[in-house]
Amino acid sequence: KNANGNYTVTLIPGDGIGPEISESVKRIYEAAKVPIDWESVSVTPILKKGRVSIPEEALNSVKKNTIALKGPLATPIGKGHVSLNLTLRRIFSLFANVRPCKSIVGFKTPYDDVNTVLIRENTEGEYSGIEHTVVDGVVQSIKLITRDASEQCARYAFKYAQAIGRNRVTAIHKANIMKLSDGLFLEVAYEVSKEFPDIKFDDVLLDRACLHIVQDPALYSDTVMVMPNLYGDILSDMCAGLIGGLGLTPSGNIGMKASIFEAVHGTAPDIAGKDLANPTALLLSSIMMLRHMRLNTYAEDIEAAVLKTIADGKHLTRDLGGTASNTEFTNQIISKLTLI
Ligand code: NAD
Repeated sequence: KNANGNYTVTLIPGDGIGPEISESVKRIYEAAKVPIDWESVSVTPILKKGRVSIPEEALNSVKKNTIALKGPLATPIGKGHVSLNLTLRRIFSLFANVRPCKSIVGFKTPYDDVNTVLIRENTEGEYSGIEHTVVDGVVQSIKLITRDASEQCARYAFKYAQAIGRNRVTAIHKANIMKLSDGLFLEVAYEVSKEFPDIKFDDVLLDRACLHIVQDPALYSDTVMVMPNLYGDILSDMCAGLIGGLGLTPSGNIGMKASIFEAVHGTAPDIAGKDLANPTALLLSSIMMLRHMRLNTYAEDIEAAVLKTIADGKHLTRDLGGTASNTEFTNQIISKLTLI
């Protein structure tokens, strides 16, 4: 806690609609009297020794506060530009990416009973970036799986299950084909499961899991799924699709040195600066952050207010089929808080 008795959290407003939706979160937090002081920093890329990097001030702020809420960043396309998101992941060893997807009452999709929680290993697997040309016309990409990263991720999945009151963890893999790499991931998950005798552990092949989830998502509403990087990337978008797309999905990047919470969507350049953006995904990400900080009472109050606003259906933003501006939608959420 800081001198005001509050927690200091780094806020990276980001690009495009980022500043608008960040402002909305700040207004809601102020109204809900959340004991957080925001430290806003820009991560607009700078050139450091000829390479694109993140300003030192932003990195130091995240290092110091260890918790950050991040708006979307525009990834420059072209050679020599590394993704800033990937850079943050590497610098802060963000080993696990947590993505819950829960059906939102009032936002109709073909499914109304989705409640999945997925944890993706965030640092290795197919995304290790180890690729080379063997001979002309033949390339090789190395899928790296280590005991350490798998163990860290699996242990976090069990702890997360405990924290959210689920008593099952399911490893998703293809160890039938990738016997060594996915085999190690699975073996380590089994080992870690022994530390958590109160939590059931099972494993399902990735293809089978995809089939099950689209047929009957409720089969996975009592478990925390944990999996290697690429599978998590794809499966989490599939789950997001079931609840109505990326505009409503939050995420948290959990790390050794810091944890960064962010909406899954991008900068929405088509609607930026027009007060049309939906702040829900960033707000739900901030609610994950509050629970991570054990500020559960505030998390519950704000979550109830946003879900009620959507269920009411009277002041929805355009992406949800309404006509309200971001400001109007935000005002409605504030009017539904109970702590004020
Ligand atoms: P996008 O998510 O920004 O937009 C896709 C569509 O969804 C657009 O029509 C947009 O208007 C809409 N949309 C997205 N978020 C919305 C919101 N909160 N409210 C209302 N409508 C919303 O995806 P894109 O257009 O592919 O990407 C734009 C930029 O964002 C790119 O530079 C990309 O690299 C970047 N990006 C960043 C992140 C991140 O920082 N985590 C993630 C994805 C994309």
